[in-house]
Amino acid sequence: MFENLSERLGGVFDRLTKQGSLSDEDVKTALREVRVALLEADVSLPVARDFVKAVQEKATGQAVTKSITPGQQVVKIVHDALIDTLRGEGEPGALKIDNPPAPILMVGLQGGGKTTTTAKLAKRLKERDGKKVLMASLDVNRPAAMEQLAILGVQIGVDTLPIVKGEDPVAIAKRAKTQASMGGYDVYMLDTAGRLSIDEELMQQVEAVRNVANPRETLLVVDGLTGQDAVHTAQNFDDRIGITGVVLTRMDGDGRGGAALSMRAVTGKPIKFVGLGEKMDALETFEPERIAGRILG
Ligand code: GDP
Repeated sequence: MFENLSERLGGVFDRLTKQGSLSDEDVKTALREVRVALLEADVSLPVARDFVKAVQEKATGQAVTKSITPGQQVVKIVHDALIDTLRGEGEPGALKIDNPPAPILMVGLQGGGKTTTTAKLAKRLKERDGKKVLMASLDVNRPAAMEQLAILGVQIGVDTLPIVKGEDPVAIAKRAKTQASMGGYDVYMLDTAGRLSIDEELMQQVEAVRNVANPRETLLVVDGLTGQDAVHTAQNFDDRIGITGVVLTRMDGDGRGGAALSMRAVTGKPIKFVGLGEKMDALETFEPERIAGRILG
C-alpha cells in the first residue's frame, strides 16, 4: 500500500546530478518525500515538521559517501534521527520496581488495552523477573472490567485483590498496598478506570489514586493505531498525572506506528513496551529500530 521511502527517494535523486556533497536543493527535495512518508505513517503534522527541519540542518552539506547514492544517504540520516528520537533514556522496558512492594499505576482511556496490558505485564514480571505480583482493578463503575482482571489473573496464575462491592478507588488502592505488604508481594499493579474520552472526573479520580499510591511507575496504555488522538491522550495524562512511560497497544495491526514518534516528541517519556496481540504473551520490549523501519515503510 505504501511506497517504500528508499525507492521513492531513489527516484527523486535519479533526476539530480551527483555532486560531492548533499546540496540544499537535494536535501529539500528529499525531505519533502520524507515528510509525506511521516504523515502517511500517522506522525502528527507539527512533529513531522520539526523532525524534518532538524534532519535538514543535519544533512545539508554532508559529504556524499561514494558507496551509496544520495537518496540512500538521506534515508540513513532520517533513519538514525528517527531512532534517536524514539529511544528513551535507560534500558528499554526497564521498570523501577525495587523496594517491595512497588506500586505500578496503569492509566489510559477505555478500550486502549489497559486491563489486558496489566495482566500481560504481570505475567512478564512473574515469569521473566521472578516477581510476586498482585493486581487490583479500580474500575468501580464497570464491574465487568473488575471481573475481566480477575479472570485474567486466574489464567496467568497471578493473584488479584478480592473485589469488595461499594468500595471507592482510593480505598481499593489502600487495601492493595496493605495486602501487598502483608503478603510479601514485590509489585502491585493498580488498573485504573478508563473513559471513552478524557474528562475531569477521570483525571481527578486517577490523581487521587496516584496521591495515595505514590507509584514507582505510571504507565500510560494507548492504542497505537489512534495516531493523533494517542498523542493528545499522552499529553493530557502526562500534564495532569505525570507518566513515567508508555505502552503502545495494537502494534500487531496495520498501523505504521507514527504515534510512537509523535508521543516521544511531545511528552519526552519513554515508550517501554508494545502490545502485539490479544494473547497474554503478546507484549514486547519497545525496540526503536523496528518502529523506525516501519515508519519509513
Ligand atoms: P481497557 O478498556 O483499556 O482495559 O481495554 P482492554 O484491556 O479490555 O482491551 C480492549 C480490547 O483490545 C480487548 O479485546 C483486548 O483483547 C484488545 N487488545 C488489547 N491489547 C491488544 C493488542 O496489543 N493487540 C490487539 N490486537 N488487541 C489488543
